Formats: sequence, structure tokens, C-alpha cells
Amino acid sequence: MKLVMVGAGYVGLVSGACFAEFGFETVCVDKDKSRIEKIEKGSCPFFEPGMDDLLIKHTQKTKLLSFTTSLADAMQNANIVFITVGTPSRRIEDEADLSAIWDVSHEIAKNIKNYCVIVTKSTVPVGTTKKIKKIIETKISSENFGVVSNPEFLREGSAINDFMRPDRVVIGTESKKSEKLMRDLYRPLNLIETPIVSTTIETSEVIKYASNSFLATKIGFINQVADLCEAVGANVQDVAKGMGIDKRIGAKFLHAGPGFGGSCFPKDVKAIIHTAKKAGVEPMVLDAVEKRNQRQKERMFDHITSKYGSDLSGLIFAVWGLSFKPGTDDMREAPSVVLIKSLIKAGARVQAFDPVANEEAVKKFSKDWISSRKLTFCDDNYSALENSNALVLITEWKMFRNPSLSKLKELMKNLCIFDGRNQYDPAYMRSNGFYYKGIGR
Ligand code: NAD
Repeated sequence: MKLVMVGAGYVGLVSGACFAEFGFETVCVDKDKSRIEKIEKGSCPFFEPGMDDLLIKHTQKTKLLSFTTSLADAMQNANIVFITVGTPSRRIEDEADLSAIWDVSHEIAKNIKNYCVIVTKSTVPVGTTKKIKKIIETKISSENFGVVSNPEFLREGSAINDFMRPDRVVIGTESKKSEKLMRDLYRPLNLIETPIVSTTIETSEVIKYASNSFLATKIGFINQVADLCEAVGANVQDVAKGMGIDKRIGAKFLHAGPGFGGSCFPKDVKAIIHTAKKAGVEPMVLDAVEKRNQRQKERMFDHITSKYGSDLSGLIFAVWGLSFKPGTDDMREAPSVVLIKSLIKAGARVQAFDPVANEEAVKKFSKDWISSRKLTFCDDNYSALENSNALVLITEWKMFRNPSLSKLKELMKNLCIFDGRNQYDPAYMRSNGFYYKGIGR
């Protein structure tokens, strides 16, 4: 079976490499020539644990994985073509921007030469896969191709394991032939008894948005509870623990923090709200999740100004962690960006450090701030602390878990920690002379 991934981004490249690991010949296509050249040289264009090894294995040893910018070449004798292009939020409205999906659909339509199945793996609003079918039908009879919705649930930072050992695979299609081909494709997962959910195309599309927005709701909910805990003197960590033990609730995604970011939750919550409104459904819960998260991204700044006042001129803040979560260099919608912008606008200087995301983070800020040294990206976590008035922990990379307090004391001007991930023990920090402020405790 020959597979094509159209869009060699996070999802396309990881899925392509993992399908090669399952033993399938896979071609990844991207319109970005420099990206393809980089990958061909053996370098993964983003940080993802295990990806470099997998790329080397399947490009050089098994030769099951190849790359091209030509969809026409890739589609020669292809059996399944996955659409894995981005579906970001539109700038003005909150609906998903599907322009890349439509471009790819027209191109696929021109290049179908033998029967193949076209699969939307990108996260797309309900109705999109059927529109893709209509586009392709303008060029080729529906007997010669099938369409399937097969959303992807991998998480950045653990993407390979998530892909190879998913909780479930969702296959939405109306065609028995397409479903059989998809089930053949995912047969390697039978060994680990992965549930395969067969459903209609519409249901499959909704499952993806509903899953992401449910997880976002859990985060929004616990952040709301964190505010309540601060107001009444409770501890959100213990509340989450007490709740999460209940199997009906579950402990995952119940961590109070600086708000969710990343390439999926923010845009997917916005997109499902838009879809609901368009369908005449009032998205009350989801609206609240979205608003709550915008607010949460300002929470750390509120804590800082409560201590230092609204004018932060002359103060230096060390920011540890920039990516939206550990294990990735993805800066999309990262809460660190909101915080750093607020700090600098309030007159502060920022010394930031992330073990892998410094390079991506630079792109998010004004060059003037960097040249005037209002914002400095540091080579290690301790140099970010030099002469700082406070440390703000934003992303909970493992390396930040147990810092040397003697080094902190030696380097920092004020012993002050704003802990956006509740990583440190407040009593321990206070007993060591630090001012400590976490989230919701
Ligand atoms: P991405 O931005 O990393 O990659 C998209 C790629 O598509 C880019 O490399 C781009 O150059 C390429 N592309 C755009 N138009 C093209 C065209 N016409 N022809 C060929 N290539 C084209 O995006 P991503 O993070 O991989 O996300 C892809 C989709 O998967 C989105 O819908 C996203 O919501 C969904 N998703 C993402 C994740 C994740 O963790 N990143 C997880 C699950 C689902």
C-alpha cells in the first residue's frame, strides 16, 4: 500500500514517519521547498523527541519514506492520500481558515489516476470532508475515489508514542471500500487492541473538535477553581487531586496554569464556537472556556503587578520556559508571549530562556525589543536570573523542577518566584527566604 501525506508539518511528518515504521511506503509532500530540503538533509524542521532517528531510519535504511514538493509525482500509484495541511484561525473571524484544504483538494482532483482514498487528517469543521468530495467530483467520477475523515489526536512532545499507541482511531466514511482500506492500514494497531470507531463523516469531524474542546474545558474549569481557591484560601493542587481520583473525572488536564496555548486548543475552541453559531446553537459553555483562557493568560501578570505595582520600569524578570508546553518548540498561542509583551509594555526588561524554543520564540517579538535589550534570550536558565527581580516559571520543563537555590540566591536581586505551573513547594521556598506566588494556592 502506498501512502501520501500532503503537508509535511507536525502531523504530516510524524504520521508519515510512523506509517513508514508500520512498514508502508509513504511520500510526504509540502509546498514549502526549503522545508522539504531541510527534511531531506535529515533534519526535522521542529523539535519532537525521537523524530530525527525515525526520519534517518526510514529515509536512509528502509527507504520507505520520501519527500517531494510535487503532488503529481507523489500521487503516482497512491492508495491513500492524507490531507495534513494547517487549518489555523482566520484573523478576523474565528472560523477555521480552510484555504490550504481547498487548494490541496483541487490539486488532488487533477492528479487522481487510479482509485484512491482521500483522507482528512487535518482538523476540519463539520461538512469539510464532503465539500472536498464535491470538489474532486468536478474532475473525476465518485467511483474512482473515496473520502474519509480520520482525525489525528497526537500531542506534540509525545507525538510518536501517541501515533503508535493511540487511545482510539476514528474512521468516518460512507464507503465500505474506503473503510476496508483504512482498517487494513491501521491493522498493525490490532496487536495492541486499539479501538477503531467507525462512524459517519460528520460525526468523525465533530469527535475531533468535541474532544479538544472538552480537554480545553477541563483546563478552563480548573483555572476558574484556582481563582476561587485564591479568594477563599484553598489549594487548587489539592482540590485537583481530590477531584481527579474520582474515575468519572480523571486527573489529567486538571492542572491550573497560565492558560492553554498551542496549535490546537485555542483555534479548535474558536472554530467549534463558530460552527455552533452558524448551526444556530448557542455555545454557552465553549464561549466561557474561550473567554476564561484569554483572561488566564493575563493572570501571571496580575500577580506580578499586585506585588510590584503597574509600573515595572527598572525591573528585570527572568522567564523560564517559552514553548506552550514542555517537549516542543511550538510557540503558537504560547502564554509566555502574552506575559512577556505585558511585562515589557509595563517598562520591565525580560531575560528569557527555553531549552529548545528560544529560536522559535525570537520570531514572536519586535526586533527593536531585542536590539534594545528589553528582551534577551539567554543560553541557560541560570544566566537568565542575573540581577533579576523575579523568576517567572511559565513552561514546566523537567530541568526547571529542582533548581539550585544557592545559585538563585547568588544571582537574583530579589528572591521572588512567580510559579505559573505550581512546580515548587510554597512552604519550602518561603522557608528559604523567597517571596512565592503560585496559581490558586
Ligand atoms: P503545520 O503548520 O505544522 O503544517 C502544515 C504544513 O502544510 C506546512 O508545512 C505547510 O507548508 C503545508 N502546506 C500548506 N499548504 C500546502 C499545500 N497546498 N500543499 C502542500 N503543503 C502545504 O500544521 P500541523 O500542526 O501539522 O497541523 C495540521 C493539521 O492537523 C491542523 O488541522 C491541526 O489542527 C491538526 N492537528 C495538529 C496537531 C498538532 O499537535 N500539531 C495534532 C492533531 C491535529
